[in-house]
Amino acid sequence: MEKWLEELQSLLPEGRVLTSLADRHSYSFDASFGEHLPDAVVQVKEKQEVADVLKLANRYKVPVHPRGSGTCLSGGPLPVHGGIVLDMSQYPAVIDLSPRDLTVKVTPSVLTGNINKAAEQHGLMYAPDPSSAHVATIGGNLAENSGGPRGLKYGVTKDHVLGLEVVTPEGEIIKTGGQTIKNVTGIDLTKLIVGSEGTLGVIVGATLKLMPKPPAVQTIMVAFDDVRKAGEAISQTLTSGILPAKMEFMDQACIVAVENFQPVGLPVDAAAVIIIELDGHPETLRVERGLIEGIMEEMGAKEIIIPKGDEEAAKLWHARKQVSPAIAKIKPTKVSEDATVPRSKIPDFMDRLEIIKEKYGLDVVAFGHAGDGNLHPNILCDKRNVEEMKLVERAVEDMFQAALDLGGTLSGEHGIGTMKAPFMELELGEVGLDMMKRIKDSWDPNGILNPGKVFPEKGQKLVLHHD
Ligand SMILES: Cc1cc2nc3c(=O)[nH]c(=O)nc-3n(C[C@H](O)[C@H](O)[C@H](O)COP(=O)(O)OP(=O)(O)OC[C@H]3O[C@@H](n4cnc5c(N)ncnc54)[C@H](O)[C@@H]3O)c2cc1C
Repeated sequence: MEKWLEELQSLLPEGRVLTSLADRHSYSFDASFGEHLPDAVVQVKEKQEVADVLKLANRYKVPVHPRGSGTCLSGGPLPVHGGIVLDMSQYPAVIDLSPRDLTVKVTPSVLTGNINKAAEQHGLMYAPDPSSAHVATIGGNLAENSGGPRGLKYGVTKDHVLGLEVVTPEGEIIKTGGQTIKNVTGIDLTKLIVGSEGTLGVIVGATLKLMPKPPAVQTIMVAFDDVRKAGEAISQTLTSGILPAKMEFMDQACIVAVENFQPVGLPVDAAAVIIIELDGHPETLRVERGLIEGIMEEMGAKEIIIPKGDEEAAKLWHARKQVSPAIAKIKPTKVSEDATVPRSKIPDFMDRLEIIKEKYGLDVVAFGHAGDGNLHPNILCDKRNVEEMKLVERAVEDMFQAALDLGGTLSGEHGIGTMKAPFMELELGEVGLDMMKRIKDSWDPNGILNPGKVFPEKGQKLVLHHD
């Protein structure tokens, strides 16, 4: 046994350093592509343990890959260079609410959905609502800067973080930010850590912002017989002076997939639907609903559906959440992208997706947070079919290029991880990427924390097939 591993085992209580092949296999994948076996898995339960593991790893220059629930769609927690997977999901889950301050302190293992449930008991809300909130950890959300449908009105994770407790790659415990709404003391390290995908530090605690829960919500579903018209209706609504809380898009393939999976009565003959949620005072909602109905009619909507009551509305939102599992039933493999474009470019991005679909003859479906330009084109394929996967790789490259041509970005919320690292220079340019790398090098001089993520390695390409 290697010396570092022997020392690691003596560092933690028995049973919390896992080295059996079966255990290591369980930590070798996430929700994206690729499988990489770690040499060991460490289940930490307090910040001093995290610090001790990092100090040891730094001394021996052993890679450490933090991991929450492993739901990442870009390869973030994969141990691509072996070494240690640092399992943060066994950390005691603590939600400590301060309703009078409208804040909450959490430990990294807390499931994000549980923060909102706790806040609701006090008439409050934790705004970020990724579709995976019931399974993903807040640590993972902070590391990925995750977002969800409510991002349209309320922003993403970074907009709701006041302070963090972080263990640096050299094993020091630091605090960033604080507990106050306003805080301009020094360089904003909180924002630097949020979204750094586990490459700069391990998050062991966070103070998050809560807000009053809106008193009422109104759901509206609008069906279109033309995808481009739906895209234009989204832009039209957003420039009309109304800011919905959510504005989600599903194309026909997604509608049909959901109806085959868990039917709720979505209009399967529509080319696309937009599902909107307005929130606020009931009187405001009444006026805004009327205005939206007017816009949609003017934009040539095929049908406007107003759910009768909360239960029906909940069913529509549940249907939206079911898109991912429903389309996963169509073909064995689903390559999920989240390139994002300025909102006015949504119709153009939809056109480019259509061209890519035709060019490669692939099954491409689209859904997502259209209100903030964050569509999720998904390519449905079979990873055992090497020739098909080569086409998928080219189609993904074309999607990234299309988003960048339209002034967009590689990722709106799923992060860069291993999957998009080869394309970073395309968006940031050589110098921009180098500045990011210099920050990484100063935080992590030995490059032990989550290597192989975000920054492309020499000659790295997007590879979705194994010959
Ligand atoms: C069905 C499905 C739906 C999804 N929907 C959404 C969505 O709507 N919006 C969205 O943004 N994402 C979505 N995702 C992606 C995923 O759920 C998020 O990226 C989530 O934040 C990952 O959390 P996790 O706990 O699973 O972290 P993991 O997948 O385990 O890790 C994610 C990244 O965070 C790092 N990390 C984890 N914990 C820590 C920590 N304590 N300190 C430092 N780094 C850490 C890891 O190294 C890795 O880089 C979805 C995924 C699935 C499978």
